[in-house]
Amino acid sequence: MTGVEAETRVVEDQQSGTPVLQLDEVTKIYPGATPVVALDKASFTIRQGELVTIVGPSGSGKSTLLQVMGTLDRPTSGTVRIVGEDVAKMSDRALAGLRATRIGFVFQQFFLAQHATVLENVADGMLYSGTRRGARLDAAASALTRVGLGHRIHHRPQELSGGERQRVAIARALAGNPAIVLADEPTGNLDSVSGAAIFKLLKELNAEGATIVIITHDRDLAAQLPRRIEVLDGQIVVDVSSAEQPLSTERHLP
Ligand code: ADP
Ligand code: MG
Repeated sequence: MTGVEAETRVVEDQQSGTPVLQLDEVTKIYPGATPVVALDKASFTIRQGELVTIVGPSGSGKSTLLQVMGTLDRPTSGTVRIVGEDVAKMSDRALAGLRATRIGFVFQQFFLAQHATVLENVADGMLYSGTRRGARLDAAASALTRVGLGHRIHHRPQELSGGERQRVAIARALAGNPAIVLADEPTGNLDSVSGAAIFKLLKELNAEGATIVIITHDRDLAAQLPRRIEVLDGQIVVDVSSAEQPLSTERHLP
């Protein structure tokens, strides 16, 4: 076996988990006087246990990609499958249920309710999952302990630092034990030290089993992660794993 074959096999082994999210030729066109092609036939698969970063310059289509991956928006064409289910075949209501139970979101702006405690913020993230209040509070407390905020659960968001607020948002994303966590620029509002700590936390949570996708324009942070997908003008131009074996985007072509 040549070195290249051996390396390829390593990559395939790493990729042998169950597919959690599959994009097949996903295109998103925003209509208007001048329609914008925000995504152009994007294809990739995210498997259980992966930690993936999506990088690209401003306007390249990263947030659109996250919206489509997270079923917050429907593609113009192409297929999105979450845990094997084609989301185009689901009603809005079924999709809302899938989103509430299978996908965790983390955004640059945290989106925490200022008048609720940290514990309530995390527990309320499971409001639409059908979990009873007592169980929600228990799961919230344990998620907050996981992100290192077990001593802050009765505080309000404005009493916390930016990095701590993002930890709350991460706890909220994880508390319902989703199939995948999607984070859009989670370090975008943080100083570099807090941002690095949030990256470290996401890596630890992945090591404990969470499947995580992080969108960032910070190439230094992205370089630390096992797999990097690069977006340019709505197209996937690079998809590499840390084994330095390019996962050629050609493999998605017929
Ligand atoms: P990124 O997150 O990489 O900065 P976006 O996905 O936000 O990129 O945007 C990709 C392209 O789509 C940009 O040209 C942007 O102006 C355009 N765009 C994003 N959202 C909309 C929208 N709701 N309507 C029209 N154009 C949009
Ligand atoms: Mg964006």
